Amino acid sequence: MSDKIVDEKFAKWNGIDRLKIKWNPKIDTDKCIGCGMCVTSCGRDVFRFNYESRKAVVQKPYNCLVGCTSCESWCVAKAISFPDKEYVRDIIKKDGLAAKSVQEVNSNKSKYEVEK
Ligand code: SF4
Ligand code: SF4
Repeated sequence: MSDKIVDEKFAKWNGIDRLKIKWNPKIDTDKCIGCGMCVTSCGRDVFRFNYESRKAVVQKPYNCLVGCTSCESWCVAKAISFPDKEYVRDIIKKDGLAAKSVQEVNSNKSKYEVEK
């Protein structure tokens, strides 16, 4: 297993160094029932499973997709939490990311156009 806290392919988010963005799940270990849903369902290898304590562990926090909260929804024990989504919206505003995405959409019609 790699000991890196972020995989190379997730090292940037919209051009921003991913390590500068504090967005990742936190697990309340008292609430975690060890069902493994977060471990097996996250597509970004954020979680691992501690077979001794039978609890999920956040192994690669910065692999988490900025703004995603899917694992919070999957956790029947409500053991997973995230920062306020306003934190992500503030980054988008501060770094002008929406303006950049408009340019990206406008210059890549063949990629993004609705299929007919
Ligand atoms: S989904 Fe929730 S209860 Fe299940 S292993 Fe993950 S943190 Fe624990
Ligand atoms: S929020 Fe999404 S990407 Fe982040 S750890 Fe949960 S499921 Fe994975």
